[in-house]
Amino acid sequence: MAEQIGLPIAGQSGKAGSMNIVFRADLSRHVAHRPSVLYWVMRPGAHLGGIGMGLVRMVRPWDEWLLTWGYDIDQPPPEVDEATARDIVHDLVGDTTIDVEITSTSLWTVNHSYATEYSRGRVFCAGDAVHRHPPSNGLGSNTSIQDSYNLAWKLAMVLRGEAGPGLLDTYTAERAPVGRQIVDRANLSRDQFGPIFAALGIAGGGDDEGIVAGLAACRADDAEGVKRRQALHEAIELKNYEFNAHGVELNQRYSSGAVIPDDAPPEVWERDPELFHQPTTRPGAKLPHAWLVDEHGERLSTLDLVGRGEFTVVTGLAGGAWVSAAEELSLRAVRIGDAGVRDAYGDWRRVSDLDEAGCLLVRPDGHVAWRSVSDVPSGHVGVLRDVLNRVLHRKFPPS
Ligand SMILES: Cc1cc2nc3c(=O)[nH]c(=O)nc-3n(C[C@H](O)[C@H](O)[C@H](O)COP(=O)(O)OP(=O)(O)OC[C@H]3O[C@@H](n4cnc5c(N)ncnc54)[C@H](O)[C@@H]3O)c2cc1C
Repeated sequence: MAEQIGLPIAGQSGKAGSMNIVFRADLSRHVAHRPSVLYWVMRPGAHLGGIGMGLVRMVRPWDEWLLTWGYDIDQPPPEVDEATARDIVHDLVGDTTIDVEITSTSLWTVNHSYATEYSRGRVFCAGDAVHRHPPSNGLGSNTSIQDSYNLAWKLAMVLRGEAGPGLLDTYTAERAPVGRQIVDRANLSRDQFGPIFAALGIAGGGDDEGIVAGLAACRADDAEGVKRRQALHEAIELKNYEFNAHGVELNQRYSSGAVIPDDAPPEVWERDPELFHQPTTRPGAKLPHAWLVDEHGERLSTLDLVGRGEFTVVTGLAGGAWVSAAEELSLRAVRIGDAGVRDAYGDWRRVSDLDEAGCLLVRPDGHVAWRSVSDVPSGHVGVLRDVLNRVLHRKFPPS
């Protein structure tokens, strides 16, 4: 569809070939004592394509699995019949005695490509159609769902006449940078298997003997073995950027016509922005999560106070004027500190960066559209109305 409507696609397609094999086999004797959802397996041949190693991923412990194996993209795509698939499973698991029932096989390619525009006329694209990358970092589904979450409320409001059509232009402005970031990160994570291969002494290509020799050298008790194990340790540390990269997933900052920036100085990242999430109420960021306490004494997240298709005004106990203004404009308002939304742990005060009489306007997708860190002297209704009109690309509120 993206190609059919002429969306510009940047990057490279078909960098490597991969196959998925879904199978049933009782592998408990190999894994039950070291439980994980995902096992990387170094075997001769595994680095030819795909993600660069054999991968055995648990679907159901310990008898249902997805195996991923590479193939040489420069050769014609392989025919993977049941017997071939079973051989690959036996080889990668390293045990020919297990019973294997093949459920399905499929081929896929590693891509490093992304659309730089997500819509043409009345057609909007989301998901893997506009960001194409290997599964490294595991963000394909989340990013695809976020695309839809970003678009759905905008479409609904424009179709209901509550927003101007300009709001729809903000979809590309907000989501295309995220798509590109995910594609680049996933491919970098795949490339960062390189140092692991180097430490293991694996040159690449079909160097099966080299793999066997490299793995043996890595176990040697000589100086070369020590050097390789140190290099391997450092290479595996890099994998934090694949498996523990909360910042990649959560530090999205939208910049578009559906966000009104404030005059705060540019954001400074306190820690590595790829590894660590930095919560903020800066316009464009996702509303930070903070635990509150409801009227039954149960924990409640700030994230549950917003969304469900509506804009939300968020303020503190001293922000009564914002609440009244929100009511006048038929906006949902939340005053943190009220019964039912008590900041019992001080989490909100810690992350919100707002005075108690400050105010956030949070969009239906949970991103902050606008904020006033402090109270304004007067005219709260007018301020909120203007802000809403700008964000929704409309001149007047609907009657
Ligand atoms: C091996 C592997 C592991 C992954 N692991 C993870 C992970 O751990 N975490 C994660 O978040 N993501 C992961 N992903 C990525 C994730 O699966 C995708 O990002 C996600 O499925 C994309 O969703 P989508 O709806 O955009 O596309 P798809 O899921 O591909 O859905 C598109 C649908 O459209 C259908 N279709 C195509 N053409 C037509 C047509 N002309 N007419 C009608 N229907 C059509 C297709 O059959 C398909 O059902 C992984 C992907 C792979 C390949």
